[in-house]
Amino acid sequence: MTPKEVMEFVKENNIQMVDYKFLDFVGIWQHVSVPICEFSEETFEEGLGFDGSSIRGWQPIHNSDMAIIPDPKTAKLDPFIKVPTLSLICNIIDPITREGYSRDPRFIAQKAEAYLKSTGIGDTAFFGPEPEFFIFDDVRYASSCNESFYSVDSTEGIWNTGREEFPNLGYKPRHKEGYFPCAPTDSLVDLRNEMVQVCQEVGIHIEASHHEVATGGQCEIDFKFDTMLEQGDTLQWFKYVIKNVAVRNGKTVTFMPKPLFGDNGTGMHCHVSIWKDGENTFAGDGYAGMSKTALYFIGGIIKHAKALCAFTNPSTNSYKRLVPGFEAPVNLAYSGRNRSAALRIPQAASPKAKRVEYRTPDPSANGYLCFSAILMAGLDGIENKIDPGEPLDKDIYGLPPEELADIPSVAGSLEEALSALKEDHAFLLKGDVFTEDVIQKWIEYKTENEVDPVRMRPVPEEFALYYDC
Ligand code: GLU
Ligand code: MG
Ligand code: MG
Repeated sequence: MTPKEVMEFVKENNIQMVDYKFLDFVGIWQHVSVPICEFSEETFEEGLGFDGSSIRGWQPIHNSDMAIIPDPKTAKLDPFIKVPTLSLICNIIDPITREGYSRDPRFIAQKAEAYLKSTGIGDTAFFGPEPEFFIFDDVRYASSCNESFYSVDSTEGIWNTGREEFPNLGYKPRHKEGYFPCAPTDSLVDLRNEMVQVCQEVGIHIEASHHEVATGGQCEIDFKFDTMLEQGDTLQWFKYVIKNVAVRNGKTVTFMPKPLFGDNGTGMHCHVSIWKDGENTFAGDGYAGMSKTALYFIGGIIKHAKALCAFTNPSTNSYKRLVPGFEAPVNLAYSGRNRSAALRIPQAASPKAKRVEYRTPDPSANGYLCFSAILMAGLDGIENKIDPGEPLDKDIYGLPPEELADIPSVAGSLEEALSALKEDHAFLLKGDVFTEDVIQKWIEYKTENEVDPVRMRPVPEEFALYYDC
């Protein structure tokens, strides 16, 4: 919508409140609401001030004034707020210089799109993320809660933890057999359908909905690929809808990568292709129907994968998922059909659908930063003609150690990813997409607020191992 169209939308829908949303540095949607009398067409120019020092990883207290500028193209009705509410996603600017804020993830995605155009390699990058998630009972609504250790309980019972269920829930998927028996074993059909319908109401094009492999209520709802910035916006809307529909049904959703030990974790595979003048530059007559451009893109991802992990797998919990045996890729190989490889080239019927599926990312990532970093690594591969080596069509989990030794792997911990990023980030600085300040702040923020606090705390398994020592 244009600003004018937004004003008409306000009248037509009897809008009472305007809700401004923006994604913070870490990747959580923030919002502030104003009554409709405080909103006009000028707001799209003037914006609204806020305290940038109260947002994680942004401004210091002595320089805290920032402003949000709503993007009229993102106007929607918010389905979760009682009074008719217009929702707008915002960019962040410095109120004095009026320039985009370098630590605003949405600005970084906008610069990544501009950089792609400036290289002449393509004009559009398409992303199709597949965020999985777990649905648990919300203890605030559970009729009986006998769990002494976990604060959330599985909807379907958890086989692998050996915990008792109260009450006995009857039908339930066997361990690693959640993909995908019908109801009543899949007890989440109605809830997912409600999620699908609300997603559609807010304009998300849903393609499929299903239970996933893990037995503790793991699900996936897929939406259509889109351009990078739009997909960053959609990912936030998606998470907002999924979480809020769950909550209004007495459930709770988490996108954390590994909530349950011993079962599959939560990935966010990212399907990517780069287009130029209406043609898919990834389609060709090479391995698995790929062009040289696609192969070099893969080369760039493999080369920078450890540093990339700092943005594609940015939580300490991410590395509890990236272990062999749970469909999460550990090894940096590519293959036509192999789900144990980090890069899969789906067998597409038409060249238009030719794309690379990068399977390492997880949904604890900040979408704009994750997509931008993947694009920048791939572009570096194309610009420098980085050879990805030979494809690997074998089950990597079953390879003997001597064969595995030659295959590079993803980072083993957030700490390792951050130190790889420290050494390897020139590819992200091109076109001023990620600035040196953003990289340094990211490393500092993640180390101080996530790596160190987790590292310094005793965990239950340590009591099991060492209490009697
Ligand atoms: N849950 C798996 C992961 O952690 C992916 C399963 C699938 O292939 O969709 O990546
Ligand atoms: Mg899946
Ligand atoms: Mg996938």
